[in-house]
Amino acid sequence: MKDDMKSLYYLNKYLLKYKWYLIFGILFIICSNLFAVYMPEIIDQAADKISAHFENKNNNDLINKDEIWNSGIYLCLVYLSLALLKGVFLFFTRQTIIVMSRLIEYDLKNEIFDKYQSLSLSFYKKNNTGDLLNRISEDVTKVRMYLGPAIMYTINVCLLFILVITFMIRKNPELTFYVLTPLPILSYIIYRISSTINKKSEITQKQQSALSTFVQESFSGIRVLKSYNRESYFNKSFAEETEYYKKASLNLAYVNAFFTPAIVLLIGLSTLLTIYIGGIKTINGEIDYGDIVQFIFYINMLTWPIASLGWVTSLIQRAAASQKRINEFLDQEEKIINKKHAHTLEEISELSFNKVSFTYPDTGIKALENISFKIKKGQSLGIIGRTGSGKSTIGNLICRLYDIESGSIEINKENIGNIDINNLRSKTGYVPQDVFLFSDTISSNISFGLEHSPINENPIVNAAKTAFIHNEITKFPESYNTKIGERGITLSGGQKQRISIARAIIKKPDILILDDCLSAVDTEAEEQILKNLQPLMDASISIIIGHRVSSIMKADHIIVLDKGIIIEEGNHNNLIQKNGYYAEIHKKQLLEKKED
Ligand code: ATP
Ligand code: MG
Repeated sequence: MKDDMKSLYYLNKYLLKYKWYLIFGILFIICSNLFAVYMPEIIDQAADKISAHFENKNNNDLINKDEIWNSGIYLCLVYLSLALLKGVFLFFTRQTIIVMSRLIEYDLKNEIFDKYQSLSLSFYKKNNTGDLLNRISEDVTKVRMYLGPAIMYTINVCLLFILVITFMIRKNPELTFYVLTPLPILSYIIYRISSTINKKSEITQKQQSALSTFVQESFSGIRVLKSYNRESYFNKSFAEETEYYKKASLNLAYVNAFFTPAIVLLIGLSTLLTIYIGGIKTINGEIDYGDIVQFIFYINMLTWPIASLGWVTSLIQRAAASQKRINEFLDQEEKIINKKHAHTLEEISELSFNKVSFTYPDTGIKALENISFKIKKGQSLGIIGRTGSGKSTIGNLICRLYDIESGSIEINKENIGNIDINNLRSKTGYVPQDVFLFSDTISSNISFGLEHSPINENPIVNAAKTAFIHNEITKFPESYNTKIGERGITLSGGQKQRISIARAIIKKPDILILDDCLSAVDTEAEEQILKNLQPLMDASISIIIGHRVSSIMKADHIIVLDKGIIIEEGNHNNLIQKNGYYAEIHKKQLLEKKED
């Protein structure tokens, strides 16, 4: 618990950044409370005036009615002005402290998001998306509740306490003592109820997110769900989940119901004590009527702040737990980083792997062993092999999504680790095997990798033409401005692949990696695309990964992978002559084509 609290220290840098908001906020709280504590004083004076009036009446002394009226109106005006001033300063308090919490929330979200963007793929493999989302949304919200309401209420309670108790003691220390005795019991009870409420609401929240995950899955998997006829099973599971949720919320409502009555009961006790003891003291002539009224007002003023103490404590506890989780992410050290003297390259003209071995750090799967090859500008490398043989891994390593453990990857004869990562990636056009397009227009998807979006459509159209998708795009209702993804049209697998090719080639990369990105198009389209790509491939280093011999047969050098090892290599003709694995799949695929 104490360690949790320490995690909140992380936020001090932000409090320092927005210190003026905090300082003014505290000043405004002081002002608003000063006006507030004078209000019962006015009530006291009014009550004294009235009681004096009645006493005089009994004495049959005719007193001036006008005078009573005038002082009544005067006190009313003072009271109203105090209330108004208190309100104005309360407004300013919220405008500073709550605004501060929102500003910090904004900064913290950006900080977390920046961190996420800088972390490597293995980090994303280890953490699930739901967790990452929670850090940046729910946890940050809880931290904001600490920075805003919790800080504000804590300062408020402390000040109000000091002020009110000073005022009460000045009036009558003994009465103050009696009146305040029930308050510690009150705050303890409220603390207990609040923590129970928190525990229960945590359970409800968890059940709520389980419910939304469930619903979300059933929506995104709706095609599978329907084709497997599992609707009734899902309905049943949903009913069970909601049943849990109902139970949890009813439980919460039950505890919640105790909250207000408990406060009212204890406040009532204090009020009763005030009237009883105050009454005796009035009879003894120690105090007057007005003082009793004033005390009752003070007790009511203390009610909410004390009631909120328990709530604030739990806000702080929850914020601390959230900040601890956030810190765990922020403290992650990024392993793939730029070295201090990383080079930037004008042009990439050579790429070589020298005895590269690689094991995925998170799964321990050995994906590559002793891989060597060399490609120069204008040359192409074809990679073929069984599924899981390590083909995509080579692509990942060239983009430096992972660092290798033995051997070396060299670019322009320089170790890949010495080259600026952003420079390397901006010169690489990578078409991943699992195509991902953003829910945006086709043109933004194609121009995604460009630093500045192009002035006109020309580069986008040219890239689309090369990727052999232009004609299909123009047939869409809004051509290049057609939205794709969740809210837009659904593209076929082959269309997606070709848009993703256009995205990679628009930036005229020095290294072009096509990872099995022709698998969903037919052989004729494949031939056309490869023909269109030829000029670009002549000016760059290209790596074509595929399952079909037809996609890679034109490459200058071909490697055949099996279980991470190169089992054959050479150009197409050499490999056919060798009559090994390559020749065998070539024969098979030719037969399949004839059967078509
Ligand atoms: P396919 O033809 O099916 O695309 P591939 O030749 O591209 O296969 P890789 O994706 O390179 O194969 O995978 C090689 C091995 O590494 C596989 O055993 C796979 O399970 C493992 N692997 C791939 N990606 C990861 C990853 N991100 N984390 C851990 N292990 C991985
Ligand atoms: Mg692959």
